[in-house]
Amino acid sequence: MPPESYAFPLLDLRVAPANAQPINTTGEFVLYWMQSTHRFEENWALRHAVAEADRLGKPLIIHQGLDPTYAHANDRIHHFILANARELAARAAKLGVHYQFVLRRRRDDDRRVVDRLAARAALVVTDAFPTAGIAERTARFAARATVHVTTVESHAIVPAALMVNEEWAARTIRPKLFAHLEHALQPVRDRAPRHAVTRTLAGSLDIDALDLRTADLVAEIARCEIDHAVPVVAMPSGRAAALARLDAFCTDALPRYEERRSDPTDAEGSSRLSPYLHFGQISAAEVARAAIASVGREAATKFLDELVSWRELALNFTLRNPRFAQLKGLPPWVHETMAKHKDDPREAHYTLEELEQALTDYPLWNAAQNELRQTGAIHNVMRMYWGKSVLLWTRRYGDALKHLIHMNDRWALDGRDPSSYGGIQWCFGKFDRPWGERPVWGSIRSMSLERAYKKFDARGYERRWNGR
Ligand SMILES: Cc1cc2nc3c(=O)[nH]c(=O)nc-3n(C[C@H](O)[C@H](O)[C@H](O)COP(=O)(O)OP(=O)(O)OC[C@H]3O[C@@H](n4cnc5c(N)ncnc54)[C@H](O)[C@@H]3O)c2cc1C
Repeated sequence: MPPESYAFPLLDLRVAPANAQPINTTGEFVLYWMQSTHRFEENWALRHAVAEADRLGKPLIIHQGLDPTYAHANDRIHHFILANARELAARAAKLGVHYQFVLRRRRDDDRRVVDRLAARAALVVTDAFPTAGIAERTARFAARATVHVTTVESHAIVPAALMVNEEWAARTIRPKLFAHLEHALQPVRDRAPRHAVTRTLAGSLDIDALDLRTADLVAEIARCEIDHAVPVVAMPSGRAAALARLDAFCTDALPRYEERRSDPTDAEGSSRLSPYLHFGQISAAEVARAAIASVGREAATKFLDELVSWRELALNFTLRNPRFAQLKGLPPWVHETMAKHKDDPREAHYTLEELEQALTDYPLWNAAQNELRQTGAIHNVMRMYWGKSVLLWTRRYGDALKHLIHMNDRWALDGRDPSSYGGIQWCFGKFDRPWGERPVWGSIRSMSLERAYKKFDARGYERRWNGR
C-alpha cells in the first residue's frame, strides 16, 4: 500500500493506462520516463512511480532523454532542458533517487533506449502531455511495448480529467476549477523510493548516459543535429532559478499584478514563469501556494485566474479537442464570420520569412517579434497584438494560424505548450464571443496596433527591442 501521504484522493484522476499490457512482476525495476515534468518535486508521475516501485518491491529508474527529432529542435530549447538536467543530476543523489540522462546527438544515433529499458522493466510510468509531440510519442511507444505503460498528468493543479468535456470559455471552467482548488493545493510530502538502484543494475543498463557533472553543454549542443539558428537565451534554467524568480515576483510585482501586467515596458510586472511551467521545472501548485502565502488569497485573485483558469482552460482545449492546432478547432461562429470575410482586402501581405525576421512595416509588431527572437518570450499584452495582427496580413486565415504556431513553437521558450495553442487560437476567437463586424476581422475581437500607442509607452517598447 502506498504510504498515507500518497492517499491523495485526486491522484487516481491523473493516472491512465496507455496500453493493455500486464505489469511484469519479474521485471527488474520500475521505469519513470520523464518527458514533460522535468522535476522531482510535486511530480505526480514520479509519485505514482515511487508508490508502484515500493508496492512491487523494485528499485526505480528515472530516465530522461533528449532527441534531435522533436519539432523545432534547437539550441534554445536544448540548452534550457540540458541546464535543468544538470541541476537534477546534482540533486538526485542527495534525494536518494537514480536519475540518468541520454543525449541522442544525431538522428542516426541509438534510438531505442527507452524500448531496451522497458524490456527489463516491471512497469513504465510516463508523463501525460497533449502537446510538443509527447502524446503521439507515448502512444507509439505504448503500442509496441510488451510491458504495462501508465501515463500521469502533472501539468494542472486541478486534475484535467475532472473536466471530461471541452470547455467553452474561462467563465465555464473557472467555477469547476476553483471548487477543487483548495483541495488540490494541499501539500503532499515527497519521498524517495525504498529500494535503491544497485551499481550492478545501473552498470548493466546498456545506455550511453551523459555525465552532466562534467559535460560541456555548449559543445554538446553544437554537436547535435538541430537548428542552430535559434540561439540560447539569457534566462537561467532550473528549479533554483524558477524559485528565485517566483520569490522576486511575489515580493515585488504581485501586490500590484493587475495593474503592472498591463504594461509591456514593465519587464518585472508579471511572473515570467511560463518557461519553467512549460518544462515542468516548477509545479503550478507550488507557484499558487507561494502567491497565496505572500499576499493572501484575495489579493492573488487575478494572478490565480491566469495561472489556474486560463492555463487549465488551454490544457482542457488541447486534451479534449484533437484539432487544437487547426482552424477546425474554433467554434462555429468563427467559421461563419471567416467565410463571410475571407475575400476582404488585407491591409498588408507578409510571408512567413518576413514575419519571422521582423520585417513588417509596423515597428511595434517588429519589436514584439524581436523580443521573441532575443529573449524567447513576448510580454503578454504584446503577445495579443502580435497574434491578432498576423490575422490581418495573410491571404487566408489558415496561413496566419500556421505562421503564428511556427514562430511561437520555434522561438518561444514556453512554446509547444497547451497555453501556446490556447493563446494563439484566442486571437482567432477561441474562448471568446462575437463582437462588432469589421473588415477581415468579421466578428472576431479586433486589436489594432495604432491603439496600443495610446495605452502604454509603445515607442519605448519599440526602442528597447528594435534597438533604435
Ligand atoms: C498569441 C499568444 C501566444 C501565447 N503563447 C504562449 C505560449 O507559447 N506559452 C505560454 O505559456 N503561454 C502563452 N500565451 C499565454 C500568455 O501570454 C503567457 O502565458 C504569459 O504571457 C506568460 O508570461 P508570465 O509567465 O509572466 O505570465 P503571468 O501573467 O505571470 O501568469 C502566470 C502563468 O499563468 C499562465 N498564463 C498566463 N496567462 C495565460 C493565458 N492567457 N493563457 C494560458 N495561460 C496563461 C502561464 O503559465 C503564466 O506563466 C500566449 C498568448 C497569446 C495571446
